[in-house]
Amino acid sequence: MSLKGATFLESVLQTLKRAIELGGYPQEVYEILSRPQRIITVNIPVKMDNGKIQVFTGYRVQHNNALGPYKGGIRFHPEVTLDEDIALATVMTFKNALNGLPYGGGKGAIAVDPKKISKRELEELSRGYARALAPFIGPETDIPAPDVGTDPQIMAWMVDEYSKIAGRNVPGVFTAKPVILWGNPVREYSTGFGVAVWAREAAKKLWGGIEGKTVAVQGFGNVGYWGAYWLIKMGAKVVAVTDSKGGVYNPNGLDLTAVKAVKDKTGSVINYDAPGTRKVTNEEVLELPVDVLVPAALENVIHKGNANNIKAKLVVEGANGPTTADAEQVLHRKGIWVLPDLAANAGGVVMSYLEWVENLQWYFWDEEETRNRLERILLDTFNRVMIRWSKLGTDNVTIREAAYVEAVDRIYNAMKVRGWI
Ligand code: NAD
Repeated sequence: MSLKGATFLESVLQTLKRAIELGGYPQEVYEILSRPQRIITVNIPVKMDNGKIQVFTGYRVQHNNALGPYKGGIRFHPEVTLDEDIALATVMTFKNALNGLPYGGGKGAIAVDPKKISKRELEELSRGYARALAPFIGPETDIPAPDVGTDPQIMAWMVDEYSKIAGRNVPGVFTAKPVILWGNPVREYSTGFGVAVWAREAAKKLWGGIEGKTVAVQGFGNVGYWGAYWLIKMGAKVVAVTDSKGGVYNPNGLDLTAVKAVKDKTGSVINYDAPGTRKVTNEEVLELPVDVLVPAALENVIHKGNANNIKAKLVVEGANGPTTADAEQVLHRKGIWVLPDLAANAGGVVMSYLEWVENLQWYFWDEEETRNRLERILLDTFNRVMIRWSKLGTDNVTIREAAYVEAVDRIYNAMKVRGWI
């Protein structure tokens, strides 16, 4: 068992235990939700470019389907472990339930570095995985999507392979597909958009609005860039951004378009240079005197060692698991709001749900209509979490715990009416 996987799973289960306690649910809920319903292991032979066969091991963890088909991404990474996959699938059950989606949770993984194999090998591996999983997935059974190391092209190969086996086009079996193959243009920025919507709504409660509030963003990838983009559109002032090499800070605000152009040209935001701008490290960016902090890169970056130095009043978790449990207690005591990952970065999976609905009915909304629908779902979740938090008592309960209670409540009620409990 990898330490990373074990720790992650343990902390998810700890929060689940606390949510069950806070919500007064029976112990059986823990017995059921603390382990996945089904784990599928597949071994996929691929003929490599050198003519030799290499066998890749992959998983699909189907955690719980009380609320609907399993739903969650597929990760291609050399260090994936089954324990990590179980933890990720478990979190998906709560994330989907929290956002009111008609889905359970699942997650898949293959131990491979997609950058170290050729495009042809990658295609053969992706198709092999879809073939091996075909009996266990489907639009009403289990709907995978991309995660770390996978992208819309890989989804296109997989949906093509699945459709060939089914003998008909089946668009709704994978989501986040290319726009030309039944995808939706909103998917590209949906997670960052969700981060911005959650930040804006929390800012309304804290300060009456997000306008003019300063924001620091750690991570300038899909989530960080689009989060910053939408926050600026909503009236906030993004003053710092970083990527893996470090980044830049200007207390008067950054020109995001110019920063993005430098990143695209040179590979890092650290090369951006303008009057009033200085360099910051990835440690410093977390401790800047800003109103809003968006960790959008890695897990465990806010920990016991730096939690006391965080000056932002609002932390919006763009990344999965950026705040350790210890650090969250410190921030909570300091009165800092932490908008938890399963809520703040759910824009992507909510958008996946909308794409799936489009696919099932073979009818597609335009970009604005899709974005409005996405926003409505995010706002509904925000309001429910705030009501639940205030009912449970904001002094003794974190926003994450309130979100978990909200999620467990739906799963519990579905399991109860089904007669599982
Ligand atoms: P990405 O690969 O597009 O971007 C990651 C960014 O983080 C890059 O700019 C990279 O340079 C930077 N980075 C890497 N190491 C860093 C470090 N040590 N310090 C600071 N920055 C560093 O990835 P992404 O899709 O934006 O995902 C980021 C996080 O958000 C991950 O935790 C992911 O699981 C989570 N997430 C993503 C989505 C999505 O739809 N993309 C949805 C939900 C959650």
